Amino acid sequence: MRPMLVLALGATLTIPVVAQPPPPRPRPYPVFESSSFQRAVERGTRTRTGRPGPRYWQQHAEYRLTAILDPAAKRLSGEGTVRYHNRSPDTLRTVIFHLHQDLFAPNAIRNTPTPVTGGMELGSLTVNGHELRAVQSDTGAGFERYGTGLYVRLPAPVVPGGSVEFGFSWGFTVPPDGAPREGTDGEVFFIAYWYPQLAVYDDISGWQDDPYQGTAEFYMGYADYDVALTVPEGWLIGATGTLQNPEQVLSPPARERLRRAADTRDVVHVVGEADRGPGRATARDSAGLTWRYRATAVRDFAFGVSDQYLWDATTATVGDQNSDGKADRTLIHTFYRPSRRAWAWEQSARYAQHSIEFLSTYLWPYPYPHATAVDGVVSCSGMEYPMITCIGGSRDTLSLYSVTVHELAHMWFPMQVGSDEKRYSWMDEGVTRYNQALGMREFFPNYDREAITRESYLEFARTGDEVELMRHGDQYPYDSRAFGVASYDKMATNMVTLRGMIGQQRFMAGLREYGRRWAGKHPAPWDLFHTFNEAAGQDLWWFWRTWWWETWTLDQAVAEVTVRGDSTTIVIEDRGLAPMPVRLAVRRPGGGTQRYEIPVEVWLSGARRYELTIPSPVASVEIDPEHLFPDIDRRNNLWRGI
Ligand SMILES: [Zn+2]
Repeated sequence: MRPMLVLALGATLTIPVVAQPPPPRPRPYPVFESSSFQRAVERGTRTRTGRPGPRYWQQHAEYRLTAILDPAAKRLSGEGTVRYHNRSPDTLRTVIFHLHQDLFAPNAIRNTPTPVTGGMELGSLTVNGHELRAVQSDTGAGFERYGTGLYVRLPAPVVPGGSVEFGFSWGFTVPPDGAPREGTDGEVFFIAYWYPQLAVYDDISGWQDDPYQGTAEFYMGYADYDVALTVPEGWLIGATGTLQNPEQVLSPPARERLRRAADTRDVVHVVGEADRGPGRATARDSAGLTWRYRATAVRDFAFGVSDQYLWDATTATVGDQNSDGKADRTLIHTFYRPSRRAWAWEQSARYAQHSIEFLSTYLWPYPYPHATAVDGVVSCSGMEYPMITCIGGSRDTLSLYSVTVHELAHMWFPMQVGSDEKRYSWMDEGVTRYNQALGMREFFPNYDREAITRESYLEFARTGDEVELMRHGDQYPYDSRAFGVASYDKMATNMVTLRGMIGQQRFMAGLREYGRRWAGKHPAPWDLFHTFNEAAGQDLWWFWRTWWWETWTLDQAVAEVTVRGDSTTIVIEDRGLAPMPVRLAVRRPGGGTQRYEIPVEVWLSGARRYELTIPSPVASVEIDPEHLFPDIDRRNNLWRGI
């Protein structure tokens, strides 16, 4: 309100009182492309359509690894070769590996507390059979360790179309429970990030060698694996890949039950409580048994090992991938300790079966030979690896199904749609949180995980501590929910919002098309945006800008409703900073509802208020009654007539 202005001449002039106009609003500016993405478009490896470019390429590798796990000493010793195929147009003089175990080295740079073990002990490193040595300078062939990276300067460059073979021997102490995503509690060993793993060299960034610091996850290339794991007799393994030699490592009855499980949708106890141990679950060999696995075109290889495990197995129907008119099946395995029955693990094979069947129908058929869940260390919480997930901590029915469907949904994102989880965590975690909610709704009717996720985001947004999605996963504030809220809850909510805006059909067309274009490849954020733009039939630049680069919140309000005889004027205010279309429901006395939409262009033009005049009578006016959009203050969304 403004005061009256009193003039000295005796005349009093009243200045009309006007409502303060709402403060001017920020208006979204166009979506940035990174300069490296622009260059990739110019070179023809990417496009601005969401499709890979005609000159898209990616690297490939073949790993042949052997490892011996000594549970008593908590030691893993490994050796093997990695053949790296250079399919890029570039001549490579240096090749970069990750030694993720160095997260646990005494002086490692970390952004999360971890146990300290000593990290990775590198025994030998050869290139095409020639031994290399550690070097300090950047001249000549040799290798250097920095952060969790291993930088190998080659004796001779690897040309486009060429390949190079590395040989390694290494060892490390398995970290105790408390290490992120892996470790041992003495009974179970969950072994991950256990071998020298190639960094990704891609068409956008070249080498992506961001170190493993604990918080941000991974970016991994596709490779074929041939792995031999030696563990003591009586110990069971659940692993990425297909077991090649069951006749050498499993007892005849266990093999017979496994064969039966491959033929049924019932859960078969491959190893029950009384069947555990050497000679009963496994073959006998006091020197240890070597389990051989193969996997093709996967991003990683991980395994869980215990002599306590029970083993359940069944199959899941995944649709007809080879179009022969018959449903294809994949194997489901779960491994857990008897004590975990109290945490609903007896149901774990059912949960995994439902998850894989639901996701295969809703997204596209599960492409791998099995899906496995193992009871692991507490600090696994829930962690995804190709074909296998490690699940830790106390659980109940709801929580075990929830984590199972979440981790198995990762078999689509990022296992198939291989995004960079470090730089764009939302591309796998947020999409997965969204897919998880749909699985949960089917398994527990009336359970609304989408609403819980939205409230988690909104509650944090109200604190003002929110951080935008487009930020490297290691650059969020320490000891804050900001990373989790952005990557998981806000991104999942953004997907619900997008679905509400463009409709279920276009949304699903966009999501599946994105998967079809990028399965087995490395999409960048712009590939996702462009694909959804195409599905939506419009350029949603303002939407991406608002919800990915900013922490603007949405607050649409019914500001005034004025009845003047036959007509009623409704004033809608956009009080937040996030522009969105307004979905208005006008209810009439005695029933009947009309829907109005105020297009987003009104707000994009800079306006804060919009007047709508409609015929009377009006019983109530409500913005977004279906809760499609994450309005931060819903108290001002509803007006009721007297
Ligand atoms: Zn996840």
